[in-house]
Amino acid sequence: MSDWNKRTKLVHGGTRRSQYNEVSEAIFLTQGFVYESAEQAEARFIETGEDEFIYARYGNPTVAMFEERIAALEGAEDAFATASGMAAVSGALTSMLKAGDHVVSAKALFGSCIYVLQDVLGRYGVEVTFVDGTDLAAWKAAMRPDTKAVFFESMSNPTLEVINITAVAQIAHEVGATVLVDNVFSTPVFSEAISQGADVVIYSATKHIDGQGRALGGVVLGTKDFIRGTLEPYMKHTGGSMSPFNAWVMLKGLETIDLRVRAQAESALAIAAALEGHSALERTIYPGLDSHAQAALVKKQLGGRGGTVLSLDIKGGREAAFKFLNALKIAVISNNLGDAKSIATHPATTTHQRLPDDVKTDLGITLGLVRFSVGLEDTNDLIADIQQAVEASQA
Ligand SMILES: *Cc1c(COP(=O)(O)O)cnc(C)c1O
Repeated sequence: MSDWNKRTKLVHGGTRRSQYNEVSEAIFLTQGFVYESAEQAEARFIETGEDEFIYARYGNPTVAMFEERIAALEGAEDAFATASGMAAVSGALTSMLKAGDHVVSAKALFGSCIYVLQDVLGRYGVEVTFVDGTDLAAWKAAMRPDTKAVFFESMSNPTLEVINITAVAQIAHEVGATVLVDNVFSTPVFSEAISQGADVVIYSATKHIDGQGRALGGVVLGTKDFIRGTLEPYMKHTGGSMSPFNAWVMLKGLETIDLRVRAQAESALAIAAALEGHSALERTIYPGLDSHAQAALVKKQLGGRGGTVLSLDIKGGREAAFKFLNALKIAVISNNLGDAKSIATHPATTTHQRLPDDVKTDLGITLGLVRFSVGLEDTNDLIADIQQAVEASQA
């Protein structure tokens, strides 16, 4: 399997068949497993082998298939599937940190990630320094001998800053810190985060991996040592494991993720190019545009692919942004992303509402900013719909 290309791994990676030799992956919707004898039960609790299971919170054949498939795709030694993206983020950080440790994090993050780093870790005596993730000198200056972890979104939500994984990893590794990358916006299709220097890669599977807005899930990828030695004991005893049903949804999502994400990214680029320079827009932010602040890095790190999300800063603040959202006929107003349905979000009043105004301003989350997750609808239909909604925003 290791010499297969990505698309083949996405369809066949991790497949385990039952005695019936089914074609499509089976859902093992069971919380437990029967032992043939008391001796076997004892032995399994002493050491659980590759294809042996005890309890669904510890592991399950359907969940294991998902973990193996995504690990093969990413070129990671191992993976652990979690109940949601936030279970993955909080589990990865909490499992490896203790009071007195220091963490350096980019400040442009998803709202719940900010809560975990600032409120949760702070409460347990972990000190976190926030930096501008695009400023390598700031990363360097923030490192300390006691820095244990570095955390950032490789492409930030919702302003789509792109962070240099190789350069930040080099800086972090000089002090022996573990590099954890929330890689949702870069997507498993375009990212090579592990070969670029990330030690731990985290996905909310809720986004592109499901890709059809059905189920919550997350996954943490890394070395066997980190996943089985550090993360798994924490996750299996604190309860954030993925359900077998959700793992099955995610497995089937992986089969089509390459086709979906490439089509969505192509549409996103066409939409961004069509809108760039529109007189009603302060800014059109899309990492695949040459005008993007990190365009050169996007070429190097993501092969020039800008992902499936773009952000529009509409002139006229909140009123104009709301008029835009309310005028959309195809895209729905919601807060997921990576879905087959296009989804428009007003971060300032929803996903990032909790942040103080000065922090929103500092992060570029203006009142006119709309995040647009591009779905699988016809590109020209989407362009026409967005264009009429931009016109309506100024009426
Ligand atoms: C959605 C998201 C998460 C959280 O994932 P859930 O599955 O909703 O828990 C974390 N990080 C980023 C960048 C996200 O977009």
